[in-house]
Parts: sequence; structure tokens; C-alpha cells
Amino acid sequence: MPAETHLFKCLSDNYGVLLHDSGSGATASIDAPEAAPVEAALKATGWRLTDILVTHHHHDHTGGIAALKAKYKCRVVAPAKSSNIPGVDETVREGDQVKLGTLSANVIETPGHTLDHIAYWFHADKLAFVGDTLFSIGCGRVIEGNAEMMWESLKKLRDLPNDTEVFCGHEYTLANIKFARTVEPDNAVLAARETQARKQIQESEPTIPVTIGDEKLANPFLRADLPETAAAIGMAGKPAAQVFAEIRQRKNNFK
Ligand SMILES: [Zn+2]
Repeated sequence: MPAETHLFKCLSDNYGVLLHDSGSGATASIDAPEAAPVEAALKATGWRLTDILVTHHHHDHTGGIAALKAKYKCRVVAPAKSSNIPGVDETVREGDQVKLGTLSANVIETPGHTLDHIAYWFHADKLAFVGDTLFSIGCGRVIEGNAEMMWESLKKLRDLPNDTEVFCGHEYTLANIKFARTVEPDNAVLAARETQARKQIQESEPTIPVTIGDEKLANPFLRADLPETAAAIGMAGKPAAQVFAEIRQRKNNFK
């Protein structure tokens, strides 16, 4: 497979990830939380930065762009709906294609966490970079949009093929699982995921990427339209967007 990824930590709990096309040598940083870890990752891999693909405008995803662009003269691709991202060369929206060497991504608009948020889906390589929309066993806070909008965005990601590997913007998995178990205490897949994630964290391994297929079985935010999820939180028969909103609200208040 021509696509290779390299995942690394940035800031306190952000992930940076490089995507490399071994066919052409092109390399993208998906978001750029800060410049130094991205440069260290480039050094470790020997790859040369050609592109930065931005998911949304938050500073912990864009703080490194200016310095990286100045040094590497890379192309910066950002959502058309963003207004405050530095050094943008190309803007993209729903349905657009982004080329990275011989690789190709579909742009999926996923508003909710922010209004400009997009995901990059490299369908042929079964990779999706989803920023702060979907996390492993969780989802982003609904900051600029509303619950209904976020639910629609999550459904778009849920509709990707089961074997799609998802890279998200933060390491929140264990905290997400702790909350998810309050929603679905009897979910055996979720219990198994907890055991696996604890081991990964103990061994200083990342808990991502995860597959869409696995997330569907254990992520309560992708399960808001299942009768058993609604029943589990006392909302049997309610519309999925309302069930989603309630789960998101409970997570906001969860300690
Ligand atoms: Zn964000």
C-alpha cells in the first residue's frame, strides 16, 4: 500500500499525524498543533513535508502552520468555511477531492464541534482523518453548532466502510470509555475495549487508529439511534438527535 502513517503526541493530549505517499514522496501533516513535534516526526521518518491538511480552525490544530509553512513552503489546505487559519493556499468543501501525490481524499463536511470542521477520507487507502468530530468511544464537544448538526456529521462518518481506520485529534479514549460504561454498562465490546485501551496506555501506546466497524459497536455517540441505547438512558422512542443531545449533555457534566 502506498500510504503510510506516522502518529505522534503534540501539546498535552493532541495527536499529530503524518501521511506519506511512498509513490511520489508527498507527505502531509494532518493539522499542525505545534511545529516542533511535526519537525521531529519528519526527521524520524525522513519524509519531506509537502502539505498541511487542516480539519478546523482551533488553535491546537493550527498553531504550527505558520512556522512549518515558512520552513517547508508546503501547501496549506483548509476548510472553505474557516476564516482565521494562517497561510491557506487552497480551500475545500463537501465533495471536493484533495490530492496528496498519488493519494486522493474526499472532503466530508462535519460541522458541530466547529462550523468549519471537515474530515479527509482517503477511500482507496481506507483512512479517515476526523479531527475533533469523532474520538475513540467519544465525540467532540458541540461548541459552534448544535446537537442535531453534530449527530448528522457523526452519521456521515459512521457510514464509511467498517474497515476504515480513523485518526482523531486527541487521546481521550480511557476517559471516554469511563463515561460510555455509564451509558451502556452491559456492552461486552465496550468492556473488551476498556481492557485493551488500559493495556495500550500502560505501555505508552496510542489507542488510535480505530476502525469505524469497532466504533459502531461501542461508541455511544454513534449508537444514539439504537432502541437499546435510548432505553438505557430512559428515552425509549425519542428521536435519535434528542438521544444524542442527552448523551452529549451527560458527558459534558461527567466527572
Ligand atoms: Zn477543536
